Amino acid sequence: MSRAIELFARMHEVRSVTADERGRQTLTGDVILAVFGKVQHKMPLGMDLLMAKYVHDAPAANRIIDVMATWLNDESLKRKDLAIALSCVAFDVFCDKPVASQKRQLAALCRKYSDQAKRSNRLIKGWQVKTKRLQRNIDGCETQTAEERLLSAIYELEALIIKEHRRIDEYAQSQSLKSSTCPRCNGTGSILNTGECPSCGGRGLFVPSVDNIRQHLRHIGLGRVSDKLWERELKPWFEKCLGNLYVESSSVVSLLSDELHKEQAN
Ligand SMILES: [Zn+2]
Repeated sequence: MSRAIELFARMHEVRSVTADERGRQTLTGDVILAVFGKVQHKMPLGMDLLMAKYVHDAPAANRIIDVMATWLNDESLKRKDLAIALSCVAFDVFCDKPVASQKRQLAALCRKYSDQAKRSNRLIKGWQVKTKRLQRNIDGCETQTAEERLLSAIYELEALIIKEHRRIDEYAQSQSLKSSTCPRCNGTGSILNTGECPSCGGRGLFVPSVDNIRQHLRHIGLGRVSDKLWERELKPWFEKCLGNLYVESSSVVSLLSDELHKEQAN
């Protein structure tokens, strides 16, 4: 993450911030805010993109979607309705939000590799060991009461196991809607001692392919689009939208960095 984005995110998270944590207070909060204001004035769309992506600002997201709709004015597309839907998908991809067709894969990885899942799996394993031990003891029971006591302890453990499975399933489902960061390597792309993360191929993120995007249209109920329409119209439009968003956001980041450097040099 660039320094400009880091400052940007921190300024929106806490009320007062000093730019330098090592005590060399070269940029104060109000100087940083002034720089943000100046850049906001020059590149409103770019700043909104940062607001939406890094601080999850909903009004900024709405403004971006409105702006993207105006991009269609100069286009002679047959299916502008699908194009608008696709521009929203492009925006989600820009914000690193997973598309519907990726969710199952992300949830499966989360169920296996997330810290929560590892903790749950340890708990479950412990309960399973205890259950087995109790089951072995049943044969040695001499009275029915003793046997019943063991059985009820086993049922309690089994209920705990079922509950824990359900809990981790729910967690994995909700995580898979939020972020396309790889749950196995936590977005770093590598795993300690073994090198490149085999789940995401070292990328740290699950970037949807163009095919994922096409499937996504079906997931959100827009139905199948013909190959011709997809290749001629929708795919190029999607790529154009996503390209515009990346270009705009990287220019705003470099403008922010330049302005902050200038202030620091003063
Ligand atoms: Zn990974």
